[in-house]
Amino acid sequence: MGSDEEILESIGRLREERKAVILAHNYQRPEIQDIADYVGDSLGLARQASSVDAEVIVFCGVHFMAETSAIVNPGKMTLLPEPAAGCPLADTITPEGLITLKKLHPRAVVVTYVNSTAAVKAESDYCCTSGNAVEVVRAIDAPEIIFTPDKNLGRYVQRVTGRELIIWEGCCPIHDDITAPMVMELKRLHPAALVVAHPECREEVLELADEVASTSGMFKVIENAVTDEIIVLTEAGMGYPLGKRFPARRLYFPREEPLCPNMKLITLEKVERSLRDLAPMVTVAEDIRLNALLAVERMLEIG
Ligand code: SF4
Repeated sequence: MGSDEEILESIGRLREERKAVILAHNYQRPEIQDIADYVGDSLGLARQASSVDAEVIVFCGVHFMAETSAIVNPGKMTLLPEPAAGCPLADTITPEGLITLKKLHPRAVVVTYVNSTAAVKAESDYCCTSGNAVEVVRAIDAPEIIFTPDKNLGRYVQRVTGRELIIWEGCCPIHDDITAPMVMELKRLHPAALVVAHPECREEVLELADEVASTSGMFKVIENAVTDEIIVLTEAGMGYPLGKRFPARRLYFPREEPLCPNMKLITLEKVERSLRDLAPMVTVAEDIRLNALLAVERMLEIG
């Protein structure tokens, strides 16, 4: 194993040779964000993946994100440097479970959060992200809407849109672990701070927030904030990109965690190995890909 400089030099050389682009989610380790061509949230990265001019996409995130890249980029190779980087939220729903629910509600349109497997997306009518879930549900004219798999995001969308949703009972353990007493304590310590929360947080946590925003939405909220103190209720890895963009702001998280362990599995060594070996590759069976693509394209059209 080489030094960090040697690994960085090797990544730089290999990315040229492979005509590769490196995409990284906001929750990735700082050193991974620093080598990425694009850093963003699921929607931003899905858009980048679909417009990027490259032969190889190295996706530094979790498995469902790399699958989304593979869904929209059949002509490109999508690599996930750590194949074990999964998402417990995505794992709360299976295609069989969704099919059973659809049978109970045959007139329902299915909206599935992008944090889901390709096979579940393929059983869905629309995808959405935390940044556009409200717009997607508002755009749907149907007697019933099934919303999967995040119950907290589903309840938030239900409250904002006033639409009654049939909500799958999954959640992100990282966001669901943030509690109202934690937020109250942060507010007591920093009474002048603006509170911004990710919509995967519980309802009682969202009620304590001044703003609810996706990870990319948080950049806009903090840019426009009239106070320098911000309580940020999401995965603590967001402290790195937010701190880089807003060095003068003081950002407070519920604790040094929550940290998503899956998001921290990718290292510089794994990125280098991935570029060198062109593996592990993420692929999606063509019939599943085509159905999932419809749901993803409907999402991308709405915004
Ligand atoms: S933060 Fe939550 S939703 Fe995101 S990858 Fe980790 S477990 Fe999944």
